[in-house]
Amino acid sequence: MAQPAQSAVWPDEPTPLALDTAPVPEYGSGSLADLLPTLAAGQGVPGLGRGIPELTPADRNCVFLIDGLGWEQILAHPDEAPYLTSLLGTSRGGTGRPITAGFPATTATSLASVGTGLPPGVHGLPGYTARNPETGELMNQLRWKPWTPPRVWQPYPTVFQLADEAGVHTAQVSSPTFEQTPLTKIALSGGTFHGRLSGEERMDLAAEQLAAADRSLVYTYYSEVDGKGHRFGVDSDAWRGQLMYVDRLVQRLAEQLPPRAALYVTADHGMIDIPFGEQSRIDFDEDWELRAGVALLGGEGRARHVYAVPGAESDVLAVWREVLGEQFWVAGRDEAIAAGWFGDRIDERVYRRIGDVVAAAHDDVVIIASVNEPNESAMVGMHGSMTPVEQLVPLLEVRS
Ligand SMILES: [Zn+2]
Repeated sequence: MAQPAQSAVWPDEPTPLALDTAPVPEYGSGSLADLLPTLAAGQGVPGLGRGIPELTPADRNCVFLIDGLGWEQILAHPDEAPYLTSLLGTSRGGTGRPITAGFPATTATSLASVGTGLPPGVHGLPGYTARNPETGELMNQLRWKPWTPPRVWQPYPTVFQLADEAGVHTAQVSSPTFEQTPLTKIALSGGTFHGRLSGEERMDLAAEQLAAADRSLVYTYYSEVDGKGHRFGVDSDAWRGQLMYVDRLVQRLAEQLPPRAALYVTADHGMIDIPFGEQSRIDFDEDWELRAGVALLGGEGRARHVYAVPGAESDVLAVWREVLGEQFWVAGRDEAIAAGWFGDRIDERVYRRIGDVVAAAHDDVVIIASVNEPNESAMVGMHGSMTPVEQLVPLLEVRS
């Protein structure tokens, strides 16, 4: 610990980023959690609010979620994504706009927000990994390891279930790999899941499902923009190739829309490339100062949950803020909650899943863990925090 009385007179004392400078997700008015409730409420499903009032749902609504395709990435690549670009905001002739993913901007959290229509503080998937307060262990929420009873972890019904019960024809069209996963069960179940391997098959089947009833709600998904971004970086040839491919997929689906239908293209988060080198990749596993008093490190590089040894919470917060506070928004649990990072309400069962300290990246830096997370630590592209490049996702509309 630094000695405050002395450090106060150092001329180069670091000034931590003020928490109120963090661009908090627009829960309740313009976030992923508001999309499906708005669509289903417009289809007459009871009990749901219309969080995005400017959206006018159709009788048949399809959501196409493209993993990892942020708003800013579409803006930056009109040549690779001509069709998506034609759907952008008014200056380009479309009605598209950005919405916020939610915090952390990561797949497990965002899929749960989309499917349940609830913010992370309520659905309870507050990151890539989070501590299970019942066992004291870290749980990987994307891979659901170690296995945890899904309906205990996330007890709320999905919007798909509510729509299905209200008589709306409901379907998910995704990879067969995901059909039986706990994350699918707690976030996306309701109606019928259809597994299809190729993107083209998914688009064709989504259009078919959309046409199958007078009122329908269909979800479809594509993963590899995110995959190539992690591995090779946003802007790599492999990533741009995926963008070109997914642009054609969207057009393929749009051209098959049945009458009285709307297609909404969105994403779970954007992505940022992180330079290699110690300045940009701070290695928790090699840093005795950051490790002091820490029992578990959760989350991911750009959105960390830090679980302290009991009694060390305030010391860990002070050290993390001093060491990282110019590059990360570093908040105590209650500060992060009060600032609205996880939404305006935190369920009691979720409270202690959130870190005693939460660190969200502001600069292009990450906190890696080279020993415990070798694969994640080697990724080129990353995401998780509240910066626009990660947080803003498209909400693009095509109507028949
Ligand atoms: Zn990802």
